[in-house]
Amino acid sequence: MPNPARPVIRAVPHPDPLNPLGITIACPLCDAARDWPLLNIRAHVFVRCRCAHEWHEPDLTRDYFDQHFTDPENEWDDFNTAMRALAFDGLLAGVMWN
Ligand SMILES: [Zn+2]
Repeated sequence: MPNPARPVIRAVPHPDPLNPLGITIACPLCDAARDWPLLNIRAHVFVRCRCAHEWHEPDLTRDYFDQHFTDPENEWDDFNTAMRALAFDGLLAGVMWN
């Protein structure tokens, strides 16, 4: 059961490499290996790259997030508000920056 005292979505910058299981996480598109915005959405942790690729990272658990990122930069109580704030609501889907 979700704990109503906790925000639904938390975001935190992480400038250093991440290797929660001893394997450094890298972007599958551009091979970047550091400088992540991390998103904790409910029980899942997502990584977003500067190249705008994002993915669910199963090596990063909610527990890991809680242990290492105790002071998130942004928090939202409402899923839809967070998605709009993060431009994850589909508004920019398919937009190409030339
Ligand atoms: Zn990338």
